[in-house]
Amino acid sequence: MADRDLFINGETVPAEDGKEFPTIDPSTGETIAMVAQAGKADAEKAIAAARAAFDDGRWSGLAPAKRAEIMEAVAAGLKERAGELAELESRDSGGTLRKTKGDVSGAGFTLRSNAELATTVPASEPLPQTTAPPSLNYVRHEPIGVCGQIIPWNFPLLMAAWKIAPAIAAGNTVVLKPSENTPLTALVLAEICKDAGVPDGVVNVIPGFGPGAGETLVSSMDVDKVAFTGSTGTGRRILQLASSNIKKVTLELGGKSASIVLDDADLKLAVDGALWGIFYNSGQVCNAGSRLLVHSSLHDEVVDRLVAKAERITVGPALDKKTLMGPIVSKTQLETVERYVKIGQDEGAKLVTGGERVSVDGHPGGLFFAPTIFTGVDNKMRIAQEEIFGPVLVVIPFETDDEAVAIANDSIYGLAGGVWSSDPTRAMGVAGRIRTGTVWINDYHLISPKYPFGGYKQSGIGREHGVQGFLEYTETKHVHVDLTRDREKHRWFDSVVPPDAP
Ligand code: NAD
Repeated sequence: MADRDLFINGETVPAEDGKEFPTIDPSTGETIAMVAQAGKADAEKAIAAARAAFDDGRWSGLAPAKRAEIMEAVAAGLKERAGELAELESRDSGGTLRKTKGDVSGAGFTLRSNAELATTVPASEPLPQTTAPPSLNYVRHEPIGVCGQIIPWNFPLLMAAWKIAPAIAAGNTVVLKPSENTPLTALVLAEICKDAGVPDGVVNVIPGFGPGAGETLVSSMDVDKVAFTGSTGTGRRILQLASSNIKKVTLELGGKSASIVLDDADLKLAVDGALWGIFYNSGQVCNAGSRLLVHSSLHDEVVDRLVAKAERITVGPALDKKTLMGPIVSKTQLETVERYVKIGQDEGAKLVTGGERVSVDGHPGGLFFAPTIFTGVDNKMRIAQEEIFGPVLVVIPFETDDEAVAIANDSIYGLAGGVWSSDPTRAMGVAGRIRTGTVWINDYHLISPKYPFGGYKQSGIGREHGVQGFLEYTETKHVHVDLTRDREKHRWFDSVVPPDAP
């Protein structure tokens, strides 16, 4: 019997076929728990529960203020169990405790922000009066229905909150599939939702794999919207499958974001920001600043400082308070990072630090990799074009702002980027020319449920967060009320209906 079951219709239930899979602690290589593995039948059961919960209005029929009150209670539940959740998340994902504590409070903030949107985004808004006929026009923002949501492993609880909060705030019901690498905290979140008063069937969580549970969710004729966060390759497959019933689709995909150090940058700030941009969560962040573009006059000094500091980053187990950079989430991902280091060397880039596994005393099974930096990189190289999703930074010099913008934009991705400069006007000019969904100036990684986040180009479709993110979970309906008083004088229908028709 699995240690953790699926969460469907307000209950924990085993998989129909009894299958289960291990979830591993990447700091030790040991199994934390056996988890029930949802397959097609379980996904269909969860979809049916979400469908029934949507169709009978047990959630969408509540006043937005009531939904908001229950979501506030979910946020309070997260706070109550914050310590337990952060530790579980660190063990399951390898994120340091400092990061996972931030994730738990970020998840609560996401719930609260969307609870606020449930009551502040008007359910209906007036539209301007057009010429004729005299009429009242308004739009309603209505929930879409059943939302299938699929998330990756780098921010498991936070991503679950990013998905569930706007969906239920707008009155939808959800079936969420967490990553097979990190299924545990989303299951706790589902329990917290139930304890807080979210009705059964509104939030369902089904751990499992892409080809089984994931594809069933995306292809189902009973799912009205799919919201996916993950790699661009999987995003492409999701788009194809979602065409079955023309689902609404939002995609948050990969990135190869450029952080640009202009020649007037505050060097200490830029170097620390670049390290934070790439090595936070061991580089396993969609918007990681994985390409550092440095003005050629600063290049050597920046590289010297980066290397000196990168070599002082303590790599170790997620639960050790001294650890600054935890392990890579899985053996497969670790091997991907190693493969890219080899590709970089074969392409002729210069490895100036890292590039290898790190062994940590007492943790022989840990999946640790050193902070890694390449110089001598041309933006056409694969290590500058492809998402590595690990602690690997490539440094590319440039001469002019125009050249920096051109290099930044020479990418299939368009998720985020950074500009480091002591001249805000100049930096904002550069930010305006970068084709990405977010640009930070003299900062990095700041994502808030109050500000829209998402990608240009192959980094995605749609936005999460803010009013924009909330509206992605609504349908827009125009209602027209004809207010014509004198029907004899204003017979709009005469062109088709005979005047003497009974
Ligand atoms: P992935 O695409 O391999 O998997 C993501 C999720 O999709 C997992 O739950 C997986 O089980 C599921 N999945 C896989 N194949 C599927 C299929 N055929 N049908 C349905 N579901 C399927 O990505 P990953 O390795 O888990 O995560 C890393 C990727 O996620 C990176 O590319 C990263 O940039 C991206 N990411 C993007 C954002 C963002 O907001 N843009 C945030 C975090 C991660």
